[in-house]
Amino acid sequence: MEFKSVAELFNKVERISSRLEITSLLADFYKKLNPEEAREFTYLLQGKILPDYYGYDFGVGEKMVEATIAFVTGYSAKDVESLFKKLGDLGLVAEELIKKRKQRALLFKKLSITEVYSTLKKIAEISGEGSVTLKQRYLGELLNNSSPLEARYIVRIVLDRMRIGIGDPTILDALSWSKVGGKELRPYIERAYNLCSDLGLVAESFLKNPESIREFRIEVFKPLRPALAERLPSAEEIIKKIGPCGVEYKYDGFRMQIHKKGREVRIFSRRLERMEHMFPDVVESARELPFEEIIFEGEALAFNEKENRFYSFQETMHRRRKYGIKEASKTWPLYVYVFDVMFKEGEDLTLKPFKERRKILEGIFPFKNLKRTHFKLANTAQDIVNMFNEAMEKNLEGIMAKDLNAPYTAGKREFAWIKLKKSYGKEMDTIDGVVVGYYLGTGARARFKFGGLLVAVYNEDMDRFETIAKVGSGFTEEEMKWFSEKLNEIKMEGPPNNLFYIMKPDFWVEPKLVVEIAYDNITLSSQHTCGFRNGKGYALRFPRFVRLRTDKGVYDITTSREIKEMYEMGK
Ligand code: ATP
Repeated sequence: MEFKSVAELFNKVERISSRLEITSLLADFYKKLNPEEAREFTYLLQGKILPDYYGYDFGVGEKMVEATIAFVTGYSAKDVESLFKKLGDLGLVAEELIKKRKQRALLFKKLSITEVYSTLKKIAEISGEGSVTLKQRYLGELLNNSSPLEARYIVRIVLDRMRIGIGDPTILDALSWSKVGGKELRPYIERAYNLCSDLGLVAESFLKNPESIREFRIEVFKPLRPALAERLPSAEEIIKKIGPCGVEYKYDGFRMQIHKKGREVRIFSRRLERMEHMFPDVVESARELPFEEIIFEGEALAFNEKENRFYSFQETMHRRRKYGIKEASKTWPLYVYVFDVMFKEGEDLTLKPFKERRKILEGIFPFKNLKRTHFKLANTAQDIVNMFNEAMEKNLEGIMAKDLNAPYTAGKREFAWIKLKKSYGKEMDTIDGVVVGYYLGTGARARFKFGGLLVAVYNEDMDRFETIAKVGSGFTEEEMKWFSEKLNEIKMEGPPNNLFYIMKPDFWVEPKLVVEIAYDNITLSSQHTCGFRNGKGYALRFPRFVRLRTDKGVYDITTSREIKEMYEMGK
């Protein structure tokens, strides 16, 4: 398949907002691909060349791309730069200048998906001395052979600025549609994805043999997509919802999924990035576990024995950076509080009920600095309250109530786990949103060229972002400066095409930055689109910026459905 068709498809999709139409276009496209191409195409659709946990980096900056465009088209670096200033998107610059290029290579060939994909992969893989020149050469070769439209997307991919705004739910639907003309197979495809976090691999396996997707298996070193917790306002509600349950402390640490095979150990973060380098002490303990293969999950945090208190995630990471990992782990040892085991010696444990998984867990942990979460059975709401009060005394965040009969709900936010935090109803609660636009400052803030953010949450059902708050407070001067610079880099001409909006910012930006926002309560507003019904959406009252959340990807943010639940809880 020619890459030209991919570029044409991306171009079409960029202009459509109907999810159904996009799904159908993608489904038709998948029908034309062989399994290997489907894998490559899926990664490109996600704006990647591999899942994030491979930890690749193109290592290609704007300056390098500008120079390559100049070299390939015969325009001067100055011409390229001034067009970039005008258009704000090097993809469009490449497109424009290739259209009018002054020179063309003698040898010119049509690009296939596989060729583009494997060259991009090579660009990401080259490192070390001389790599800049080589990367530039490969990119130059691609652009030399590109049509203007192909160049637009090649440049966007290497700069990690794909912008076509298709989330995983649409891709999962499209795969199912491509085989059965409906969503019937989506649950199986989705489960496969939740077990390996590699949508390219899932697409390839599915196209090879749609039936086999039902038997997709967990593999060590391919992280599962994390199970997520729902929330409820009180212990009574929890008992009403799931009956007698397991209750654990909720530790505010660093979530990690730990994989071991033989002597090799890998650690994946909440957003499934490799983290072994930050936690050699955890790697060392996990390596000694008496199993050939195991996957388990826990919350890591440092403990100060002198003060008998836990450090939060931020403090833990801060200490590790400031004093070095070795020193910090001596004075403030890091413990992992293990809360689930998903795989052991070739056996998938995710479908076993939690009470069985917990038994297995208790047979393995504690082991060295791998502890287990404090756990009790709760038969009544009072039991939950008692545990909650205990957690408060220990300066912890709250508790997690777990359905004893539920499987490990990989990739899903379900009532298998319910969080109850001290903040509900009383102090502040927060949501995680993505920045979709920003405002210029007035008065004293004018000098920072930053006056606030337009923030959106994610509607999974529609696969789009919906706005929920204009956030103008909570920023330090330093943060304002940082935002002003960073947002200026990711500015866009128009709104992201997967955003549903009414309120407009001064500038739109690519949805890339995840922020935690505190608020007083949730109200209805005609200006915001979250959960939009009868002319009104949900909005945060008195929103304040708390922090950036680099541990979450843009599709891991609070969903519109959660906001609706939180609104109902607040009432
Ligand atoms: P989420 O991870 O649900 O998107 P979040 O990152 O804002 O949201 P919270 O909503 O505060 O975090 O709570 C969920 C997180 O709590 C889990 O992702 C996990 O990291 C952490 N956690 C702490 N203790 C436990 C426990 N005992 N069992 C499960 N998760 C726990």
